Amino acid sequence: MMSPPRTLVWFRGKDLRITDHGPLVRGLAEGNVIPVFVLDPYFFDPHRAQDLPHRIQFLLESLEELARVIASLGSTLICLQGKSVEVIPRVAEAWNVSRVLAHRWVEPFGRARDRQVARALRVPLELLEGETLHPPGTLRTGSGSPYSVFTPFSRSLRREAAIARPLPAPSTLPPVPSQALREHRPPPSLSELGICRNANLQPGGEQAAHKRLQQFLSRGLGRYGTGRDHLGQDATSRLSADIKFGTLSVRSIWWAVADRQQDCCHESVERFLTELIWREFSYSSLWDRPNLLKSPFRSSWTNFPWREDAAGWKAWAEGRTGYPVVDAAARELIATGFVHGRARMITASFLCKHLLIDYRQGEQHFMKYLTDGDWAQNNAGWQWSAGSGCDAQPYFRVFNPVAQGEKFDPEGAYVRRWLPPLAKLPSRYIHKPWAAPSPVLEAAGVCLGKNYPHPVVEHAFARQRFLDAAKAHLKPSP
Ligand SMILES: Cc1cc2nc3c(=O)[nH]c(=O)nc-3n(C[C@H](O)[C@H](O)[C@H](O)COP(=O)(O)OP(=O)(O)OC[C@H]3O[C@@H](n4cnc5c(N)ncnc54)[C@H](O)[C@@H]3O)c2cc1C
Repeated sequence: MMSPPRTLVWFRGKDLRITDHGPLVRGLAEGNVIPVFVLDPYFFDPHRAQDLPHRIQFLLESLEELARVIASLGSTLICLQGKSVEVIPRVAEAWNVSRVLAHRWVEPFGRARDRQVARALRVPLELLEGETLHPPGTLRTGSGSPYSVFTPFSRSLRREAAIARPLPAPSTLPPVPSQALREHRPPPSLSELGICRNANLQPGGEQAAHKRLQQFLSRGLGRYGTGRDHLGQDATSRLSADIKFGTLSVRSIWWAVADRQQDCCHESVERFLTELIWREFSYSSLWDRPNLLKSPFRSSWTNFPWREDAAGWKAWAEGRTGYPVVDAAARELIATGFVHGRARMITASFLCKHLLIDYRQGEQHFMKYLTDGDWAQNNAGWQWSAGSGCDAQPYFRVFNPVAQGEKFDPEGAYVRRWLPPLAKLPSRYIHKPWAAPSPVLEAAGVCLGKNYPHPVVEHAFARQRFLDAAKAHLKPSP
């Protein structure tokens, strides 16, 4: 009797779940599956891993849970050591699989890896959609080109995308063959990688992700429309790391929220769905323009006269610029691996515009510490903030960090949480301690230059310096 076809289901770190997992469901429908994860040195070499400590922590926790769930269903998640481009073709041959199924990645290095793997395999590598709501690279303007403006992209997605309902998790899985079991190597621990565990990070894994989603649906979604920009309120979903590592699929979040249309504030639901479409826009843009990770979207920004400013950089990265909302964001990042979305915009703008430091330096720093650090999303956020990106903030809009703080953190709750030396300052000075009279500073225990710095640069001067540089560099050639 012929044995059923055997599929290698390749989990790749952006789909660490069993619910709504297309490759797993498809493989099972047609025969046996061997679930595999590759501990590729591209991420798991200790030197590489130490450069992304928070993402590695979240990933290892998620991987551990995935392995536990797969085991409880009767199978084994086989972890393999080595480069994907060598390991996958080798085991596919040794285990006699009829194909390899995985989710498609949009990043240029992921696409190059997949092309190499496909070339080395003797069986097909099939890449399924699932990382985005709609396949990247498919929505086109009337003239057939990729969108570079968000609103028409969003309209087109809402008109054309048939967003699939999430697939159920399998209730059992077939056992893997013994030759696969022999190859299994347990993933390294954090300490083996030389990383200290950060207890303030969100816990990884599919179960914690579902809990976060449920909490958001019951407590956050109703206030999302009005509260999402407020730094001191807990009104956003905090699902970005789950989306990044795929502990929840983006379409399952889409439907969980869209289905609340009837019993929740319409504006909140719409606003949230629009944010998910912003993510689609980042992914689509990177798919169509793989160079974005290296160069500005607008070519006029090439060779922009960014400054070398080691002292300014250090002050920004360590949260010592003297602008409380900017410093609070820097502290939140290092402490928790997360930064509120509004604070990301303010602090990124400050680095590029006030300090005139290359957005790529900030982009790299965020990628090091953000648990949700995502190539497409982070690059889009930084290019938006600098002014060089697709549908970016125009260069001449320079956020005033004091005004932004006063608008989005009026009582200073966010600043007080992350900058304890300022905790006792009255709200009217919390975003500009240098303006407080000496007795007020003294009563609050603030000693400028000692326990909180003077501003590294004056706002009006910095604004003008950036505008002069940008106008001179971006002026149309005669
Ligand atoms: C400089 C900068 C860097 C950023 N880097 C990243 C990154 O590395 N990874 C990342 O996931 N997001 C990034 N963002 C986008 C956004 O700030 C975060 O997705 C959001 O703050 C995450 O919090 P949340 O899940 O509570 O968001 P919510 O407000 O609850 O939004 C839900 C989801 O919608 C998407 N989303 C929300 N806002 C945006 C946005 N402005 N652009 C694109 N998608 C959005 C995210 O997937 C988010 O998880 C960045 C933004 C900026 C300005």
